[in-house]
Amino acid sequence: MHLLDRIAHWSRTSPEHIAHISNERTLTYGELAARSDALALWLDRELGERRVPVAIHGHKEPEMLVTFLAAVKTGRPYAPIDYTTPPARVQRVMEISGAGVLLTPEKVAELSANGATYESDRRVEEDDPFYVLFTSGSTGEPKGVVITLANLEHYLAWMQGAHDFAPQGEVFLNHAPFTFDLSVHDIYLALTTGNTIFSLTKELATNLRALFQALGKCGATQWMSTPSFAQMCCIEKSFNSTMLPALRRVFFCGETLAPETAAQMLERFPGVEILNTYGPTEATVAVTGVPVTRELLAQWNPLPIGRVMPGTRIIIRDEKGEPVPSGERGEIVIAGPNVSPGYLGRPDLTEKAFAPFEGTRCYRTGDWGRDRDGLIFCEGRMDGQIKLHGNRIELGDLEANLRALPEIADAVVLPVKKHDVVDSLAAFVVLAGAKEGSDFEQAAKLKTRLGERLPAYMVPRKFHFLPSFPMNNNGKADRKKLAELLG
Ligand code: AMP
Repeated sequence: MHLLDRIAHWSRTSPEHIAHISNERTLTYGELAARSDALALWLDRELGERRVPVAIHGHKEPEMLVTFLAAVKTGRPYAPIDYTTPPARVQRVMEISGAGVLLTPEKVAELSANGATYESDRRVEEDDPFYVLFTSGSTGEPKGVVITLANLEHYLAWMQGAHDFAPQGEVFLNHAPFTFDLSVHDIYLALTTGNTIFSLTKELATNLRALFQALGKCGATQWMSTPSFAQMCCIEKSFNSTMLPALRRVFFCGETLAPETAAQMLERFPGVEILNTYGPTEATVAVTGVPVTRELLAQWNPLPIGRVMPGTRIIIRDEKGEPVPSGERGEIVIAGPNVSPGYLGRPDLTEKAFAPFEGTRCYRTGDWGRDRDGLIFCEGRMDGQIKLHGNRIELGDLEANLRALPEIADAVVLPVKKHDVVDSLAAFVVLAGAKEGSDFEQAAKLKTRLGERLPAYMVPRKFHFLPSFPMNNNGKADRKKLAELLG
């Protein structure tokens, strides 16, 4: 059955059941259907025959879900843009995506207030783009990862085949922003099984008192987040199964799961299933998974990312593109029906990252990895992509945006690690002219200027001003020497 029909089934049979809770606002299945239908009618009127992406600049408002469904009902993918994205970057996303409209939750509330009924005759099918998620691109431009309905269905089928999700019996805790595909897991596993999504907004997730209060009353049974978020929660002693008595399962994804974090979670949540899953946005949420048990912890450090999902292959390749023998290190390449058709409007980038392997569409992750008899290990990045508190950032993106500021002649950005985990970013800057004020004042000015171009989480915490960069033998800025300056 089509994904939209599976969701519509719940709207028909249980219109009063709650689909989404966000910031004390609720959206029932009935409202989701009527409002997304009303917006779908408006989209068709507004865009005519143009099957262009529908962009929405917001956060976790119920109107986001209304927009997502409205777009795909009309055969158009949606492109969420988080509200932390500054106008200049929103503009670039609009240009790159070719989106036909830029909506806001307020506008959607207005357009869909009266509800309606929409007969879909051009909804998104199989290989049509279902959503476009923008991630940091190494040249300073965001890149839009296109995910089709078939990609998404492959992920949902894996999850639903491997785990039980009780119809109308689950609450999915949603921590990831809607621009990060961990939220895709929450949204569509919940909506296709008639369940409730409980969103933690950014304000809530950064106000610890409010956060733990919310966790205490959310009734979550399913949890998907980065390990960083759980690690942060573990600072609070009462974060355990008394706070979340209904919790049954925790999926970790998006970055390395440290054995310490896993051990703490096992201790705090006895009887709760904990899984480490791995995957890039380009291969639809996750492609490997493994239950994290005490036995697994005793056996492996670092932890494996698990075994690959059915129907998909992981190939570990050397620089020449040849598969390496079992146990040896190489690049993780993913091949299968969950692999994206590519980056929107960027055939050049698509060709580089998605070259077919043995005739199958595949994605070169840029991750170092190893396959030990089918158990896969991820051993870090081959390039300048990092994860900061779960956010994917290309250091090259940041550097290009810094260099684009007229005050800056050259810039290098390095990750600052605490216990082997990236904790913040440091920018090394050669100014084009004289420094304005103290280091602190100059840094504050540059942070503001950069914040006009990039989301706040990408702005480096520290700035170091140098007259010039140390050079390596190739005449490039010597990153190793600069890292030594960090102490
Ligand atoms: P994103 O597209 O934001 O999901 O980021 C994908 C990248 O996050 C991967 O290419 C890996 O570098 C990293 N990643 C995702 N899951 C894991 C994991 N379980 N362990 C280690 N790294 C991970």
